[in-house]
Amino acid sequence: MKIIRSVADLRSEVGGWRRRGLSVGVVPTMGALHAGHISLVERAIASTDRVIVTLFVNPKQFNNAGDLAAYPKTEAEDASKLRPLGMHALYAPNAIEMYPDGFATTVSVRGVSEGLCGAARPGHFDGVATVVTKLLTQTSADKAFFGEKDFQQLQVVKRLVRDLDLPVEIVPCPTVREADGLALSSRNVRLSAAQRAVAPGLIAAMRHAAEELRAGQAVERVLEAAIARTLSAGFTSVDYVELRAAEGLSVLPRLDRPARLLAAAWLGDVRLIDNIGVEPV
Ligand code: AMP
Repeated sequence: MKIIRSVADLRSEVGGWRRRGLSVGVVPTMGALHAGHISLVERAIASTDRVIVTLFVNPKQFNNAGDLAAYPKTEAEDASKLRPLGMHALYAPNAIEMYPDGFATTVSVRGVSEGLCGAARPGHFDGVATVVTKLLTQTSADKAFFGEKDFQQLQVVKRLVRDLDLPVEIVPCPTVREADGLALSSRNVRLSAAQRAVAPGLIAAMRHAAEELRAGQAVERVLEAAIARTLSAGFTSVDYVELRAAEGLSVLPRLDRPARLLAAAWLGDVRLIDNIGVEPV
């Protein structure tokens, strides 16, 4: 596994693969790798000839300086988790390589990036869209693998790929969870033991709400009850619990098409997000 730091080295490595007719997969990450990330890498290895994992803690997608400072940075451990998988390149540029002096372009996706985390984290999805566009063009990958864990991000990425005619297939991958239901996240390491015990309360409240929605209960009442349930489980505050169309993320006043229940809530200063599919009966 090569560790690559510059766009020029990345292009020359990928160019060699391309000349040999090999297909290329990319898994963009911010590092602090866990089994959720590894599931994306395994999927990429199974479906492309050469796999690049990108590791870049993107300052442009943090709307909160404290969150950026606290984000775990563990490149050596990440590399040792990836090596045994047999992937081919770890692309870990620094911020100057990614955003050289004078950098002035922002990719901004309307619609799907509005509301939900877009409302709670101003500028976040512009940062995501900008860095993902760069990573997809830098790697010129045939396929890119993204987790459903970040469902709104996945919709933003699908939209920008269609709108900018990027020649890459976006492959969605299911959320990997702990046995108690908690979605794996790089932020989970920041939870105290007491907070970790409370954390599965979010998905439990969401699963309960999904059952109520399938049983035909009114959406607004179910969402209010899910917020109350999350708070009484011990969460500090709730940014949102919402029902959205699975395609396009429009607000759904009724469960009348395939939907996604999405939530974000705080445990102390750690913000957790999760989402699940809800099909109309
Ligand atoms: P991050 O490093 O948090 O930016 O995540 C990198 C990629 O891993 C994104 O496509 C995430 O959606 C995905 N990912 C993060 N957590 C999980 C999880 N628990 N299950 C599946 N994919 C995940």
